[in-house]
Amino acid sequence: MADISKRAGTLGTENAFVVLAEVNELIRQGRPVISFCIGQPDFNTPANVCEAGIRAIREGKTGYTGSAGIPELREAIARSMTATRGIDIRPEDVVVGAGAKPFIAYAIMTATDYGAGHEVIFPVPGFPIYESQIMAQGAVPVPLPLREDRAFTFDPADLEKKITKNTRLLILNTPHNPTGSILDKDTLVEIAAILRRHEHVWVYADEIYSRLVYDGEFASLATLPGMAARTIISDGASKTWAMTGWRIGWVANKALAPVFTRWVTNTDSCAGHMNQVAALEAVSGPQDDAETFKARFRERRDLVVRLLGDVPGVKCQSPGGAFYAWPNVTEACRMIGAKDSEEMRRRLLHEASVAVLADNHFGPVVPGAEQHIRLSYAASNDAIREGVGRIAEFVRKNTR
Ligand code: PMP
Repeated sequence: MADISKRAGTLGTENAFVVLAEVNELIRQGRPVISFCIGQPDFNTPANVCEAGIRAIREGKTGYTGSAGIPELREAIARSMTATRGIDIRPEDVVVGAGAKPFIAYAIMTATDYGAGHEVIFPVPGFPIYESQIMAQGAVPVPLPLREDRAFTFDPADLEKKITKNTRLLILNTPHNPTGSILDKDTLVEIAAILRRHEHVWVYADEIYSRLVYDGEFASLATLPGMAARTIISDGASKTWAMTGWRIGWVANKALAPVFTRWVTNTDSCAGHMNQVAALEAVSGPQDDAETFKARFRERRDLVVRLLGDVPGVKCQSPGGAFYAWPNVTEACRMIGAKDSEEMRRRLLHEASVAVLADNHFGPVVPGAEQHIRLSYAASNDAIREGVGRIAEFVRKNTR
């Protein structure tokens, strides 16, 4: 057998997909699993958006497009980002791709050289693809711990300690997966002040949940003085319009747009033409469905936080955005004799038929740290009641 590369050998994964396969297998066997493990809206894509996609296929919009995306979509995104971020974003600054996810790798490959000791700072817990791609691209991962006592944001002073002359990229994510935390304006001002002292650092602002903020206003680092030029803003259609399977995401950055365009040419060629037409309708058409989705998520957040508050050994802060709850289960683990949240997760799945994720799915776990599970509350109110009820019963029944 021929060998595979070290790069391929160290490639991480998004464990949500691994757990999902396990859950689907249990469901296939007839187990009544309630799943809180996958990060996608449980709504259908708005009908007007589906119709636009179908019409595009009928009109023969089925071929390649320019690698940066169709001009109408880039214009609509530029207008929408200008409105939501309050800075001037031009259509030529925007590059559309097959989801926001590929741009994580492109940004790392653009800011760092393989094996050169270039460092990338990223939040932990955080979206697992950050660390996986940092490793795969031969850069040095520098985890930035989020602090529970700061509502799962990092201390800007910790950030400054992590920046060295080798730092090339800082990844920010607000609203945040898996904690639902928000970087508010004041914190972003502190971060910007630090970055001004370190001109050599690019920022990847993962703002895929920008439209799902429930408390206060969404704020972007790019709006602060001097930050737009160095910030790659990333957003997409997946979460706001329930379009995960359409694979449409984008980035905006004036200097790097031509570079990202070349990355797309080298990988996907372009995002699907008909999907881009559907995304155009999503971004520029009526926003009623998007507003309804947000309102429903907000209700569910309040429900899940309230119900988790009644589970023995569980403490849950109210997350400000996205659709994730990240309760602290340290005490519950102790009560049931589980050594960590991963053991609790496995037992919840197999003994209580509830699927969640655990700390180990979101980056390097620090020994002795507090334990958490992630519930994606993109599920019906009934599923939330039943699922959290099962968790409560499981903890009660298994307390030693
Ligand atoms: N960033 C974060 C933080 C995410 O949670 C996700 C989806 N789970 C993505 C990026 C990727 O989204 P997509 O590729 O569907 O646009």
